[in-house]
Order: sequence, then structure tokens, then C-alpha cells
Amino acid sequence: LKKPNIVLLGAGYGGMITAARLSKKVGHDANITLVNKHDYHYQTTWLHEPAAGTLSADRTRMPIDSVLDLNKINFVKDEVVEIKREEKKVVLKQGELEYDYLVVGLGSEAETFGVPGVHEYAYCKWTVNGVREVKEHIEYQFAKYNNLSEKKDELLTFIVAGAGFTGIEFIGELSERVPELCKTYDIPQEKVKMYVIEAAPTALPGFDPELVEYAMNLLESRGVEFKINCPIKEVTEAGVILASGDEIKAETVVWATGVRGSSIIEKSGFEAMRGRIKVEPDLRAPGHEDVFVIGDCALIINEEINRPYPPTAQIAMQMAETCASNIKALMDGGSLQSFTPEIKGTVASLGGKEAIGVVGSKKLFGSTANFMKKMIDNRYLFLLGGPGLVLKRGKNPM
Ligand code: FAD
Repeated sequence: LKKPNIVLLGAGYGGMITAARLSKKVGHDANITLVNKHDYHYQTTWLHEPAAGTLSADRTRMPIDSVLDLNKINFVKDEVVEIKREEKKVVLKQGELEYDYLVVGLGSEAETFGVPGVHEYAYCKWTVNGVREVKEHIEYQFAKYNNLSEKKDELLTFIVAGAGFTGIEFIGELSERVPELCKTYDIPQEKVKMYVIEAAPTALPGFDPELVEYAMNLLESRGVEFKINCPIKEVTEAGVILASGDEIKAETVVWATGVRGSSIIEKSGFEAMRGRIKVEPDLRAPGHEDVFVIGDCALIINEEINRPYPPTAQIAMQMAETCASNIKALMDGGSLQSFTPEIKGTVASLGGKEAIGVVGSKKLFGSTANFMKKMIDNRYLFLLGGPGLVLKRGKNPM
């Protein structure tokens, strides 16, 4: 009997957990292949730290062969170019793969909402290589400033577009690091300007107002200026132009206004909303019995508010568990489970020992929230690789 080919695309939160669970559930009864651009896995949820330079980028990544059993999983380091659904094939930069079951977990890309200049002039890649560039650029701005005979304010003006989760976590880290950068590069702190610009009527939409107020007060006390209800019309070489027509000159614009699903989804002809496929309850793409879609590429509706769930690592990991069980069920001729997210809480770090969040029905502030944030980061490592991985790669919660 021919063993089925299970092909997993993307080694992010969704792809890694699916691979780990499938290797246990189906073992050698299937050919499991995992494809990823790099031979390492990185934790996207940590990337605001290396972006601001408060953590080494290497701390956010780990070799795939150090966590997955590559005796049971065939790992292919390559870039996915297109999924040929009718032919049940995946086109890679350097070859092709045939599948019986496909899992799409290619993550997301920046959502620009059609604002011109984002890809050209803003930093918008939340990947290991993307954030390394942001960190180097920020340090260079500080290093350059003192050596210019005519000081330019825009050198030390930092704009974050978007006061959602990513934008707030990044400015939290940056505002925490600025005093140290000023000291290192002999720059008075008042020369540094930090803006968070948000089109919506509030920062951290969807968060409890008391937590939002705490976060904004704290960040303002570190010198961050919020411009809320203030859409950006264009990003230029010189900075940003607001819908009001005003310009803020800045040599650093970090884009964090949200994401859309991987461009491979639309390129492959799947029906999608902002690059995300509205999946069936069992996580399959509509009309495709052999294609599962998980993580940021999948869209599911929160029936209570009739709006999509935001794309999160928490949901990606939960989807991976269901996806692995459903593939096993398909192989065994059993029935498939429906996926229901179980939101355990959300915690946003604010730099240093500060954070805010909700866990269960409890609001958390400051160091308690910060402790919880690190426990959440460690929990993922535990689910992926057990206590050994937490000891090796985890964060000290104290
Ligand atoms: P990812 O984890 O992004 O993985 C996708 C993988 O696919 C990557 O390894 C990538 O290299 C690979 N890939 C992409 N394209 C290709 C291609 N063409 N070919 C081959 N490989 C490819 N969520 C939370 O739940 N809690 C948080 O606190 C939180 N904080 C965040 C902080 C930041 C700064 C950011 C940016 C996001 C945060 N998120 C958080 C969101 C979370 O990171 C994502 O929802 C999660 O990473 C999605 O998981 P995924 O498996 O879909 O994709």
C-alpha cells in the first residue's frame, strides 16, 4: 500500500506543532515533508525585542533539526512559489512536491491598506532578517547624529505606524532602550522623538480601556507621543504624510498596522479575504478535501461578535493540534473534529518589566503581567519540545 504524502508548508507556530504532533500520531505510516524558507524556526511573537535591540535575534530562532525528529519528517529548505491545487502539487523555487494532504501554514505579510510607500520606505518585515535590519538602522541613526555638523531632527525621529499589539510591543521595547542608546552615543534624551500613529479611534483596539490607559500613560512617561484617529496617507523618503496633509519628517518608520495572509494564497487561486482563507470548521479550505489551512493564513469567525478572530500564535498552535488529529482521522477513515479556539488570555509587553493583559477574566498590570508574558512564551516551548526546550531556550520569568 502506498503511504500518503503529507506536505506541510511553513515552519512557524502552526507548522511546527503540526509536524511534531503528526510525527507522533502517524509516524512512519505516511511520508511527512516540512518545507520552510530557512533551516530554523523563529518565534514571531518575540520579534519586537530584537527589532528594538533588547534581545539578540538569535534568541528567537532555533535549528529545526534540534526540535523535530527528522527521522520521521523529511525537511526541505526551500521557498514555496505556488500551490497547484488541481495537480495536487507545490511548486518550490528549486523543485516540486506532490501531496495527498497539504497543510498551509505560511504565516502573514504586512497589510498596507493601499498606503503608498510602505514597502519602499518603511520597515515592515516581521521576520528574523527583517528585524535585524531595523535594529542596525536604529543604532546607525544614533551613531550618525553626533558626527553631522548640521543636526537633523529626523535622524532621531522614530515613527511607529499602528497602535495595535505589535506596534505597542515594539515602542515599549524601543522607549525602554532609548536612554541607554542616548548614553552610549552622547545624545541628550530630549533630542529623540517617538510617535505612535493610529488610524482607529483608540490604541490597542479590543483591549480593556483601563489596560489601554495604563499602557499609554506608561509609554508617554517614557517620551512616546500618540497620534490617535490619525490615518497616514503616504510614507515617503522623508517621513510620513498624514490624512490632514501634515508631514512628520523621520528617517525611521516601522510599519505595524496589521497583517494579511501569505501572498502565496491568492497567487494560487484560493478565494481569500485579505489573503486569508475562510476555512471550514474542520480547518479545510472550502472545496478542497485535502488542503488544511492554519495560523495567519486561515480566517475563522468569532460568532459572538460576528467578526474574524485576530491572527495570533495562540490560535495557530490550537489549530495545529486539530489539524494533526484531522489528518490522522482522514487516514484512518474516522470523523473530523471541528475547531473552536479557546482564548486563554492576551498579554502585551511594554518593555522592561512592564506589561498589560487579561488572563481568564483577570486584568494584569506591570510586573505581574510581565511574569505572565514570559510564562506564555515558555509554554509554547513546552508544547513544542517539552521541559528540555524550556530549560534550553526559555525566558527567565523573574
Ligand atoms: P508564522 O509563525 O509567521 O510562520 C510562518 C513560517 O512560514 C515562517 O517560518 C516563514 O519563514 C515561513 N514561510 C513564509 N513564506 C514562505 C514561503 N514562501 N516558503 C517557505 N516558507 C515560508 N500572537 C500571540 O498569540 N501572542 C502574542 O503575544 C503575539 N505577539 C506578536 C508580536 C509581534 C512583534 C508579531 C509580529 C506578532 C505577534 N503575534 C502574537 C502574532 C503571531 O506571531 C502570529 O499570529 C503567528 O506567528 C502565526 O503563526 P503561523 O504559524 O501562521 O505563521
